[in-house]
Amino acid sequence: MSDGICAHIAAITAVRQAKRLECEECVKAGTEWVHLRTCQACGATLCCDQSPSQHARKHAAAAGHPVIASSEPGEPWLYCFADDAFAEY
Ligand SMILES: [Zn+2]
Ligand SMILES: [Zn+2]
Ligand SMILES: [Zn+2]
Repeated sequence: MSDGICAHIAAITAVRQAKRLECEECVKAGTEWVHLRTCQACGATLCCDQSPSQHARKHAAAAGHPVIASSEPGEPWLYCFADDAFAEY
């Protein structure tokens, strides 16, 4: 873990990984995604900020679940939307 992590990231003891490599909301809506992120509070896998729908960011705000992990292979990092904090694990 690097410097500058927030309390939300510090509280994570086991990183939740994607169950399925698809954005749950994009699958329902029939929209495209770019990269996938997994919510560390509920395990939902949703799309990144480069994706048109930004479902992970919307979920973080709507559900109050600020921390996501990248679901992409070889990207072991966590990000907190609330604090704009980033940490590799
Ligand atoms: Zn935080
Ligand atoms: Zn999506
Ligand atoms: Zn969530």
